[in-house]
Amino acid sequence: MSEPSVLRIAIPSPLRRSFDYLPPEAENPRPVPGVRVQVPFGNRVVIGILLEMAAGSLIAPRRLRRAIRILDQEPVLPPDLMALLRWGSEYYHHPIGEVLQGALPAQLRTGAAARLRPDTIWRLTEKGLATQPRELARAPRQAELLELLREHSAGLSPARLERQHCNWRPAMLRLKEKGLVEACEITPPPVMAPVTTAGRGNPPALNRAQQNAVDRLLESATGFSVTLLEGVTGSGKTEVYLRIVERIIATGRQALILVPEIGLTPQLLERFARRFPGRATVQLHSALPDRERLAAWLAARDGTAPIIIGTRSALFTPLKNPGLIILDEEHDPSFKQQEGFRYSTRDMAIVRARNAGIPILLGSATPSLESLHNAARRRYRHLLLPERAGAAGSPEFRLLDLRRQPMQEGISFKLMEIMEEHLQRGGQVLLFLNRRGYAPTLLCHECGWVGRCHRCDAHLTLHQRQQCLRCHHCGREQPLDSQCPECGSLDLRALGAGTERIETVLQERFPEFSMARLDRDSTSRKGSMQRLLGEIRAGQRRILIGTQMLTKGHHFPDVSLVGILDGDQGLFSADFRASERMSQLIVQVAGRAGRAERPGQVVIQTHHPEHPLLQQLITEGYSGFARSALEERRSAELPPYRFLALLRAEATGRDLPLQFLQEAHRQAGRMEMDGVTLWQPVPAPMERRAGRYRAQLLLQSASRGALHRLLDQLLPLLEESRSGRRVRWSLDVDPVDLY
Ligand code: ADP
Ligand code: ZN
Ligand code: ZN
Repeated sequence: MSEPSVLRIAIPSPLRRSFDYLPPEAENPRPVPGVRVQVPFGNRVVIGILLEMAAGSLIAPRRLRRAIRILDQEPVLPPDLMALLRWGSEYYHHPIGEVLQGALPAQLRTGAAARLRPDTIWRLTEKGLATQPRELARAPRQAELLELLREHSAGLSPARLERQHCNWRPAMLRLKEKGLVEACEITPPPVMAPVTTAGRGNPPALNRAQQNAVDRLLESATGFSVTLLEGVTGSGKTEVYLRIVERIIATGRQALILVPEIGLTPQLLERFARRFPGRATVQLHSALPDRERLAAWLAARDGTAPIIIGTRSALFTPLKNPGLIILDEEHDPSFKQQEGFRYSTRDMAIVRARNAGIPILLGSATPSLESLHNAARRRYRHLLLPERAGAAGSPEFRLLDLRRQPMQEGISFKLMEIMEEHLQRGGQVLLFLNRRGYAPTLLCHECGWVGRCHRCDAHLTLHQRQQCLRCHHCGREQPLDSQCPECGSLDLRALGAGTERIETVLQERFPEFSMARLDRDSTSRKGSMQRLLGEIRAGQRRILIGTQMLTKGHHFPDVSLVGILDGDQGLFSADFRASERMSQLIVQVAGRAGRAERPGQVVIQTHHPEHPLLQQLITEGYSGFARSALEERRSAELPPYRFLALLRAEATGRDLPLQFLQEAHRQAGRMEMDGVTLWQPVPAPMERRAGRYRAQLLLQSASRGALHRLLDQLLPLLEESRSGRRVRWSLDVDPVDLY
């Protein structure tokens, strides 16, 4: 047998294959899989990842190109991650090169060394410490620096010094000559979750349900298992996480905690930071600078970070001693990557846990129907926290029938009366409407003109405050004109209501109570979200109105009334997951109410109070809803009872996407079908978006294996197809959105 002498490399490219290279001359002859390799590719130089060493290649040796350089000794993707990502590439049928590349922190993608360059800092020597600034009275700049360094005994970086003194260097060098200061190199520590309030936060005594959950989880803490922890909002799930993490890290293992969006879950971060001071690293954060991300990544890899908290892609953080994975709010749609490598964080986290032989805990007040189904089939263990922890009681639900009710812009007079009662009694009121802006449609009453986006099949949303019309699908914006562009009439009318309009109505109705609006528009400036949340918690804002931003993880202990302004949203949607999504939102928003000693009331405005899903939701809660929703899915032959894959295509020409999908349909039709249903290609529900026409083809099967066997045959053909080159196409396995 010949020596392995060919490098098989994954290269970030849309091609679903690997590439063979000769090893670089005069270098480590035996690189391990998972290291980065710099190679020529076409007429560029790119960074690939070594998949394996092979004995030979299908390509003639004289035609093989030579790799330029091997960048790492130690793999940047250790064997367990390589296995996970290769699994993901196969399961989601996504090019391996893109999958591997996407798993690396940005700095490593560009070829930077997988270590941190140390920082220089300036600090006082022993002699400097013993010197009083006034002894340097004749050199005022030096005295100033000395004073500054006395205040910062850990030392100051050049960047910090720059901010304080524009020309600090000459004086510093003089101090150095005198032996009063020294420059030293330190490696910056990884970013820790911030603690903004003081105190360690003494852990409360667990209630029985919590204790049971902790005990059951710890019983099986040393092997693979999946546990669904279903606990109503405020039932103390986070407390359960904290206890288990404490035990896992006490044995020297690491806990990886995945959350939907870090910016929206500051409270979870904060609680980990307080319970484990200096031990909870933040792995991923949209605002985290690349260098700090690398620091956290390295600390996870070398095992110095016991707790790693991050979003979606933190799943691909290397861990030296993995011990536990927690996925908080497991139902959250943001755990599904929606472009490029379209993976489910939940499903891949389960695969990672299984490969590593460790437990994984999925937590939610409103679990996805998939997870409930798996729990019912005993694939997952199902633990319940049925009651709120501490003193809080459960909120009371009520449907408010809107039919024939007097209304003002989407809010009924009846609801305003109820608000009045709560406000007068000192409570806070929270209103939920998943639509931002002033109104979703602007209409000319004279000629019927409607403001539409030229690039999407959608109306433009009116933003009154900013005096503009904006498309919420492509972001296009145009100034608001007081005249109709068609007929010149001044009678332009806003139809429907968004959060901004509700805010305006309520400001008139309740001028004596201050309000806070929480949506993407009102919180776009840095820090504005935190400021608003602070004012709400301090009771300075009495009426809160917001979008789904409100549903995530915040505790508003003084909220006694929650109003759901549009309970019908999601009841009649073309998307089969819409009712699940809406129920989750309603239950999550309701969970914000009455978390402390005030009892909460939840009022849902609806034109369909008799609708079975709403009825079920308010009489039996989320689990009642889930039971009948699962029944519906079963009879409609939808997930989780069927497996789906969606082939999408888009192009600037209207016919091209459909032509490509028709070809795909023909080719698939000639294959071994074996229980896979092929739907006809159709335009997407919103056909045109950002100037591109979109179409889709749905594949459906009761057997995951059969579906994947078909995809395995189909994809290579699609890659070769001529019509495929004229469109942008992608495959979405287990899609969550069907548009
Ligand atoms: P969840 O994560 O399920 O929404 P949390 O863990 O955030 O619930 O708990 C909700 C509130 O109840 C928090 O303020 C928490 O400190 C408190 N809490 C949790 N467990 C207990 C307990 N056993 N006794 C008293 N208070 C508790
Ligand atoms: Zn007009
Ligand atoms: Zn648009």
